This record gives sequence, structure tokens and C-alpha cells, in this order.
Amino acid sequence: MRKKIVAGNWKMNTTVADGVQLAKDLVAKLSEVPSDVNLVVAPPFTHLCPVAEALKGSRIALSAQNCADQPKGAYTGEVAANMLVSAGCAYTILGHSERRQYYGETSATLVSKLGLALENGLKPIYCVGEMLSERNEGRHFDVVKAQLEEVLFGLSADQMANVVIAYEPVWAIGTGVTATSDQAQEIHAFIRKVLASKFGALAEEITILYGGSCKPSNAAELFACKDIDGGLIGGASLKADDFIAIAKSY
Ligand code: PEP
Repeated sequence: MRKKIVAGNWKMNTTVADGVQLAKDLVAKLSEVPSDVNLVVAPPFTHLCPVAEALKGSRIALSAQNCADQPKGAYTGEVAANMLVSAGCAYTILGHSERRQYYGETSATLVSKLGLALENGLKPIYCVGEMLSERNEGRHFDVVKAQLEEVLFGLSADQMANVVIAYEPVWAIGTGVTATSDQAQEIHAFIRKVLASKFGALAEEITILYGGSCKPSNAAELFACKDIDGGLIGGASLKADDFIAIAKSY
């Protein structure tokens, strides 16, 4: 049985006080979510410690949105993987399309980040996905395959077992346009096939999330697909009721 995960990427939203309140609201509603659905929240770095405190004793796990590609030292503005662990994180999102697009993250950087995250016991939520022009040119399979091969194929099977994948078509992120369940299932199955070519049967155990304008009205249809094991939720994770409704729809 693959682990089902619904993860909220708060991006650069909320003050510390708002974030703590959101975490408390989620904890208060947690009993509505089936116990086999694992919830994860990824607040901004500044919120991690107080949100960890607000989540204490609950089954909601804490994630960062990024981590440094260096272990420590003179890297002003960066936050290292071991710091995230010390702040209470179990996960970190890596390779989000906004980091690739706006901050020039390359596969080489992501190899370092993933390695450091895993070395320090963090589970990476590794994001892949094509841009609209790439889909329109029929290159989406090749783009996603390269993102998987370049960053994950150097991992051992033991390391890979701790990685969660998030397929997030860039054209669906924050646009209100969701991939249809057929489009999403097609590429999730493809991702599993690419992983199987390197990691064999382990590919069946890897959790693959869908992300991109997932909301309470479309989550159930997406989560019903055979190879979709949950969601990475942006905008809709900022409202406790919506995030819980998405998790409940599993
Ligand atoms: C995301 O950025 O990870 C995301 C899925 O955003 P949204 O749900 O807002 O499209």
C-alpha cells in the first residue's frame, strides 16, 4: 500500500501569527480526515518553529519549501537541511517550478539538495512538471523523464524509498486550470514507468502527488486515479476548511 499524502505548500503567504492560527485550525479539524491520509504543511522558514509547536502531538507533519545545496557555512540567506530537522521538519519540498523558473534551480543544484536532505533524514517532495509550451509541443513526457533521470537516478534504492514525487504541470499551478484526471493519470503512470526502469518494483511503492489548482471540487476525481497518491496543494491549503475538504475527499 502506497502512503497517501495531502501536502499544503503555503508559499510566501501568511504572517507568523496567521500561520500558527492556520496550523491550529487544521489540528482542530483533523479528526474529520481518514487516518490513512497523511497531512503535511509547508510554511515559510520563519514560521517553522512556532508551527511545529502548534502541530505538536498531532499527526500533521511539517515540511520546508526548500533547503540549501550546501551543508553549512558562509551562504548568507540559506537554510541547511540539518537546521530544518532541528526546527521539526520531516519533509522538504525541492525543485518546485517556481524555484526552477525564478531562482534558476538546475538539476545539478537539486542533486545536491536532495542528497543533503536525505543524509539528514528529511524526506524530499521532489517536484517535476512541464511548461505549457512544452506540453503544446508534445514534449511533456521527455521533460518529465529528464527531470526524473537527472536528479533521482543517482540515488540508491534505500534513498529513493524516502522520496515523494509531485507532478505539477506548470500551466496548472495557481492558474485555476487543473489537469484532467486522464491527463494526470497518464503522466503519473509514465512517471512510475520511468522510476521502474531504474528502481524496479520499488516504483510501485513510491508516492506520487498531483499538484496544480487542486481544490475541494476536483480532488476526489484526481485522487481516484490509480497512480495518484494524493496532492500538493498551493492556494487551497491557505484555508483550513478547503485543505481539510481536499484531504477528506480521498
Ligand atoms: C503548488 O504551487 O505547489 C500548487 C500546487 O499551487 P496551486 O494549488 O495554487 O496551483
